[in-house]
Amino acid sequence: MTVKENMVVSVNYILSNHKTGEKIEETNPEQPMVFLYGVGSLIPEFEENLLGKTEGDLFDFSITSEMAYGTSSEEDIAVIPIDVFHDEQGNFDTAYFTVGKLIPMSDGQGNQLRGKIKEVTTEFIKMDFSHPLAGVDLHFKGSIAEVRPATQDEIDHGHAHGPGGHHH
Ligand SMILES: [Zn+2]
Repeated sequence: MTVKENMVVSVNYILSNHKTGEKIEETNPEQPMVFLYGVGSLIPEFEENLLGKTEGDLFDFSITSEMAYGTSSEEDIAVIPIDVFHDEQGNFDTAYFTVGKLIPMSDGQGNQLRGKIKEVTTEFIKMDFSHPLAGVDLHFKGSIAEVRPATQDEIDHGHAHGPGGHHH
């Protein structure tokens, strides 16, 4: 079977930074990444590169940051008053809030997001809320573990079920 729309695809891959070669993420061969092809759940260019491949096929390609998670922009930078980070006693933990650290935050709608600390002053913390992989050219190398037709349920739900997929 070949990778195309309405197929559930399992892949193993190593994701690395295309420029530096630094490894970012690697799937466990026993738990490949499983996804429903063609519903836009992944980076479009990632899916395009797998189109027509079959079980056992290898892949090795890169995606520029513009086509992946975009670039970090000024809109993603927020300046947050320091009191927000005070604990219940009104203390500020200088050892915890250090430049470069990722801090779990939530926005006004209660969505969880992570901010990366860019600057800490006595008045504020400047955080970057862009995707951690913004500005990074991605390199994917791996193989197709399995391709199977999606069930009608999976197509209706827009995601894969079973191992590696949604359980509900
Ligand atoms: Zn479902």
